[in-house]
Amino acid sequence: MPNVSTTTNQDQPTPTVRFAPSPNGLLHVGHVRSAVLNWRYAADLGGIFLLRIEDIDIGRARPEYEAAIFEDLAWLGIGWPAPVRRQSEHFADYEAALTELRKLDLLYPAFMSRSEAQAQVRKIESTGQSWPRDPDGAAHYPGDDRNLPSAERTRRIADGAPHAWRLDMKAALKGLGTTLLWDEHGEGPAGETGKIAADPAAWGDVALARRDFPASYHLAVTVDDAIQDITDVIRGQDLFAATSVHRLLQQLLGLPVPRYRHHSLVLDSTGRKLSKSDGAASIASLRDEGVTPADVMNRAGVADIRLGEPSA
Ligand code: GLU
Repeated sequence: MPNVSTTTNQDQPTPTVRFAPSPNGLLHVGHVRSAVLNWRYAADLGGIFLLRIEDIDIGRARPEYEAAIFEDLAWLGIGWPAPVRRQSEHFADYEAALTELRKLDLLYPAFMSRSEAQAQVRKIESTGQSWPRDPDGAAHYPGDDRNLPSAERTRRIADGAPHAWRLDMKAALKGLGTTLLWDEHGEGPAGETGKIAADPAAWGDVALARRDFPASYHLAVTVDDAIQDITDVIRGQDLFAATSVHRLLQQLLGLPVPRYRHHSLVLDSTGRKLSKSDGAASIASLRDEGVTPADVMNRAGVADIRLGEPSA
């Protein structure tokens, strides 16, 4: 992350950042890196650091993990204004965005379950044909539900058929007529910086509302960043590619475009990024072992960053 300027311009909005963990596990050292970089950025610029709880995946979010997030951040010396925004309390905002996109005729109900879609892709690939994958490695949605007549969609939904809502990517891009750019002040995994050309097509027909919860990560994060007047999105490089989808949604929904500062990740001894699912040591367990906040910041690669008082 480059050094930030400490001058502020009266005409500019107050620098506002957010740390946005999902309460589906305990925080690890990788989260600390993101939280501290956000906190320090706001403190240096006299800006606002917000904590957002990304609990849109209601099946996986747990109140005890949310409580642990509060405890871990406070232990590190990070504070935030109350109340925090919890995505589960704002479904109406995501529904309003979906309604906008439906009005533009850019959404369709997708009836294939995840396992049906996977089976379909395996079938296609077994014939030797290749099938596109998104930047996270997931196969593009193989269903052709976007071509279903509207009466048939309505009938299936009325019959209670489970469905997600997907963006018709081709239709969305057709209406744009311009390459979407974003300002990258950190860097992508391959060192990308400056004006970045978004490549939303790489994601195929992304799901914007899931079968089991009312908004996808992509939709909720984009809507929330706009509602919370986030000026700078500071997050890990693992979300660099996803920014293409967020940039497209901003364009379609007429939302402001924040600056992006993707930061490098904390890697484990095998060079892989830390993850909850791979059992990365939690901050809570490190604390129980007697590790200090300074040690944790050191492991997070932010030892040189002071918490505590904002700079003058
Ligand atoms: N909730 C996401 C996560 O925990 C972060 C989203 C973001 O910073 O855009 O990985």
